[in-house]
Amino acid sequence: MINSIIVSAPSGTGKTTILGKLFEKYPNRFSFSVSATTRKAREGEVHGKNYYFISEEEFAQRLANDEFLEYENVYEGLSYGTLKSEVERISKEGKIAIFDVDVKGGVRIKQQLQDKALAIFIMPPSIETLRERLVARGTETEDSLAKRLNRAEMEISYKEKFDKIIINDNLAKAVEDFDNLVNGIDFE
Ligand code: ADP
Ligand code: 5GP
Repeated sequence: MINSIIVSAPSGTGKTTILGKLFEKYPNRFSFSVSATTRKAREGEVHGKNYYFISEEEFAQRLANDEFLEYENVYEGLSYGTLKSEVERISKEGKIAIFDVDVKGGVRIKQQLQDKALAIFIMPPSIETLRERLVARGTETEDSLAKRLNRAEMEISYKEKFDKIIINDNLAKAVEDFDNLVNGIDFE
């Protein structure tokens, strides 16, 4: 029985937007696993909701304390990690955990949770579209934009390691595909 959904996609694909629609539609069914990161918060992001925004020192300390289920230096100099405490919190709530993680983290969580998790990869229509979305989102510097695009090809090469693939070309269609997938699941 499944109790977790892993969602990975190159940055800018639309993962956060799709998940937001899912949370709106099913407010009590899913619980977002809030990762820790050393990245600075973007405008509108909330500590404890989008991420736990922590210092590099605190990240290193938590790592030494074995507090992470997995972690990854997703972009040069920026660390992101799934906290074991989040997994426990969501399990106690009796909800389905949503892990928004990079492809390497996604594969690692799938290896650990196996049949308990459904791993979904969201594909951008093209790298050029990805660039346009990241630019339109207005959150990236030239440097962070380049880092995200540089990583996208590698991330896409991981797609076959996921249970399901959704293409986010048309947003409404991608949300519908996602909804159909999770509705076809035999949840715990
Ligand atoms: P991610 O979480 O994967 O990094 P976001 O959800 O932040 O991506 O989406 C990146 C940007 O692309 C946002 O500005 C979002 O509004 C936009 N976007 C998402 N899906 C689509 C789509 N199907 N068509 C056009 N723009 C989209
Ligand atoms: P962003 O900086 O755009 O929020 O996220 C960058 C990337 O880091 C995304 O691919 C996101 O899914 C990934 N990410 C966020 N949290 C985690 C985590 O806890 N572990 C791993 N491995 N990746 C994460």
